[in-house]
Amino acid sequence: MDFETFFTEKLDDLREAGNYRVFADLERQKGQFPKATRHDEDGQQSEVTVWCSNDYLGMGQHPNTLAAMKEAIDKCGAGAGGTRNISGTNHYHILLEQELADLHNKEAALMLTSGYVANWAALGTLASRIPNCEIFSDSDNHASMIEGIRHSRAPKHLWKHNDVADLERLLAAADPDVPKLVAFESVYSMDGDICPLEEILDVCEKYGAMSYLDEVHAVGLYGPRGGGVAEREGLMDRVTVIQGTLGKAYGVMGGYIAASSNLVDFVRSFASGFIFSTALPPALAAGATASIQHLKQSDMERMRQRRNVKKLREKLDGIGLPHMMNDSHIVPVMVGDPKKCKFISDLLLDQYGVYVQPINYPTVPKGTERLRITPGPLHTDQDIDHLVGALSELWSQCALSRAVA
Ligand SMILES: *Cc1c(COP(=O)(O)O)cnc(C)c1O
Repeated sequence: MDFETFFTEKLDDLREAGNYRVFADLERQKGQFPKATRHDEDGQQSEVTVWCSNDYLGMGQHPNTLAAMKEAIDKCGAGAGGTRNISGTNHYHILLEQELADLHNKEAALMLTSGYVANWAALGTLASRIPNCEIFSDSDNHASMIEGIRHSRAPKHLWKHNDVADLERLLAAADPDVPKLVAFESVYSMDGDICPLEEILDVCEKYGAMSYLDEVHAVGLYGPRGGGVAEREGLMDRVTVIQGTLGKAYGVMGGYIAASSNLVDFVRSFASGFIFSTALPPALAAGATASIQHLKQSDMERMRQRRNVKKLREKLDGIGLPHMMNDSHIVPVMVGDPKKCKFISDLLLDQYGVYVQPINYPTVPKGTERLRITPGPLHTDQDIDHLVGALSELWSQCALSRAVA
């Protein structure tokens, strides 16, 4: 086989469809976030405002986070030095896991190298090792959950996204004696919609199913201490496993699960993706711990983020730009065409210094291509006005339709 020709043709297909991914080459500016320096293809530098960061609250530059990381580097050095089992467990990992267990009011927590690995390893391990386990998975679940479920080879039932009646129908139809695991998310990152958590938990309990909740886009952001949607709704004790990331609102990196001591110990003891991988650097654990601690007692970032989300939505409504309504901090501005979506994003970057990555298939269904905008507490009113003005001009240039105000 001519491998090079094969690769070239496949990549050309992506370009043709407008789905070829181009990374913006950015240098985040500590203390200036959401501003960043962009390096373009011609070696030029320019300042851009980032509008699509998952560092939702700017914790990636918070003084407490940075001080904790520097202190840990100075104390412990760079890397962990091994897997958790073979010399890689650092005291900072233990402190982080205690912090996480406390955050979710669970007996224990386990840190993994990313949220992706946490889902892949925890779901893969639970569903493959619990005899005859069957999985009930929301149809919009993240790729990391899908991979974990696939890896487990457990029978899988897909329920219609956020449709509790459909979940109940499938649970009722299953063998009452098989162990069941229901996997879903609280905040879905592309549409920004939030699951009906209490109803889902009611149904899980009725059928004796374990509940596995991905709170990746909610931890740090919802609940009085940033414990997520389950904390906000007073439901953490009813969720069997809460999974989260340290890489989004907490601004660092890493993933975790929080659950009963036995469940966490089980994953710790049997998950290959945990056992055979080097532990994250102590400094990451220290930074994440500081970030979690800060957001447990500070509401200012969350309040300011909500204000900016509301403000942006109002301004978009004012000029009739279609955005998907939801109850979260994610503002999907709908373009509905992959080439126009990429075109608008390119011009925003090149001509307006506004960075919003286009979201095209396969991340979202064809025909729902969008600009996924994530206002944060550090965007200013001028930033919002500039973004909305730029979008308005490009909307006209692309002859895209507007809602009648
Ligand atoms: C980003 C994401 C993950 C993966 O978390 P990382 O820490 O980035 O690996 C898991 N679940 C959902 C829903 C996500 O959006």
